[in-house]
Amino acid sequence: MNTEKQAPVHVVGGGLAGSEAAWQVARAGIRVVLHEMRPGHGTEAHVTDGLAELVCSNSFRSDDAENNAVGLLHEEMRRLGSLILAAGDRHRLPAGGALAVDRAGFSAEVGARLAAEPLVEIRRGEIVGLPPREWDSVIVATGPLTAPALAQALRELTGVESLAFFDAIAPIVHRDSIDLEVAWFQSRYDKSATGGDGADYINCPLDRALYEAFLAALLAGETAPFRDWERSTPYFEGCLPIEVMASRGPETLRYGPMKPVGLTDPRSGRRPHAVVQLRQDNALGTLYNMVGFQTKLKYGEQARVFRMIPGLENAEFARLGGLHRNTFLNSPQLLDDRLRLRADPRLRFAGQITGVEGYVESAAIGLLAGRFAAAERLGRPVVAPPPTTAHGALLGHITGGADARSFQPMNVNFGLFPPLSEPDGRRPKRKERKPALAARALADLEIWRRAAPLAAE
Ligand SMILES: Cc1cc2nc3c(=O)[nH]c(=O)nc-3n(C[C@H](O)[C@H](O)[C@H](O)COP(=O)(O)OP(=O)(O)OC[C@H]3O[C@@H](n4cnc5c(N)ncnc54)[C@H](O)[C@@H]3O)c2cc1C
Repeated sequence: MNTEKQAPVHVVGGGLAGSEAAWQVARAGIRVVLHEMRPGHGTEAHVTDGLAELVCSNSFRSDDAENNAVGLLHEEMRRLGSLILAAGDRHRLPAGGALAVDRAGFSAEVGARLAAEPLVEIRRGEIVGLPPREWDSVIVATGPLTAPALAQALRELTGVESLAFFDAIAPIVHRDSIDLEVAWFQSRYDKSATGGDGADYINCPLDRALYEAFLAALLAGETAPFRDWERSTPYFEGCLPIEVMASRGPETLRYGPMKPVGLTDPRSGRRPHAVVQLRQDNALGTLYNMVGFQTKLKYGEQARVFRMIPGLENAEFARLGGLHRNTFLNSPQLLDDRLRLRADPRLRFAGQITGVEGYVESAAIGLLAGRFAAAERLGRPVVAPPPTTAHGALLGHITGGADARSFQPMNVNFGLFPPLSEPDGRRPKRKERKPALAARALADLEIWRRAAPLAAE
């Protein structure tokens, strides 16, 4: 194809996701224009004009591809020719099993490699409102701090409820780490809104003494501070952190998220003093979220305090809670499985705005968006990676697996992967599960990569 005459793909936002998306498009032999509003227009968190600026920590988290889902995502990205991982590896700093990077060197490398790529044009300037109609293929990767005019236009296009300006994340627990000898399945008054069997929730009972001890621990727990510019976050409107609710009085939680009415502990045949409810969080049924437990407690504190709850003593958390300023779409409702906006398919989304959480996850979704846009431009089938890969599991979660009614940002974790099935129906032992999931992912990724290659591969 004559690239001179070809209309470019436009990528809006030169952060982690947009830089990766632009790279993938160009590597497929397609022209791409990368629009970045800095330095003319800044965000509350960015301090440089560099592409792929890391706004806080300099860590891409665990690099263990066998036992950690984000480490596996790193490895998959390397195998798919990721710019972000290549630059990260090049500017790696000593950090034990984690991949930490020299942030200045990393950002400079991403910028230099994109600038040196003949098919990439970097344009500095804000995209104000929706991208122009004549751009027929756009990847919007404007991140958690999307500029207000574009955010407002997206809100008008998708509906007020579909674009959030802050997150309110309750912890998510791996179902197989919940002790069902103690906890039990039941909906309040055995009712089911979804036509189910009236046993939609997992319930954890607390007696009076334990409730009081739990409350004391919650109130004493150390919280993460809000940043100055986050203080006006409108979370007070409907999503109070659990520890703020608890501070309003000893009975507030018993009349709020921990109310026991309509629930009977099958072991005692009685209504408990208080109950913590968990609701299914993904279609696979492997993850459950703690209903109403959005929190600003520090991560270590959350694990310690929430493991006091009967049934959760050995809980493994797929994601801990948080509250942040964060612009993100209700992707399960709005995006198709190729990351296109159903209401306007020329717009694809990538990065944190799709409801993934973290530098690596944002870049990984950028990688997929870039490959999808390139395949579309080349007239090739746009094939999604299998759900058994880390990329496919994350994509599947945000575009369908997650419950749209309670959708909140998600990190990659093994709970998003379809469980292993052994030929004899046996599940591998706990210790062997993660390496087996990782091996399956890398094998399936290779099959997908060969079936849906970029031109450069
Ligand atoms: C304060 C803060 C701290 C965080 N800390 C961490 C952390 O420590 N570890 C971690 O893993 N994740 C962290 N995150 C979460 C997230 O992973 C990062 O924000 C990540 O950078 C998201 O990647 P992205 O590409 O989606 O967005 P970004 O990297 O933010 O990139 C978006 C880009 O779009 C540009 N842009 C926005 N609107 C427009 C427009 N209209 N026109 C043109 N350009 C535009 C912005 O200037 C920016 O460069 C943090 C988020 C925030 C807000």
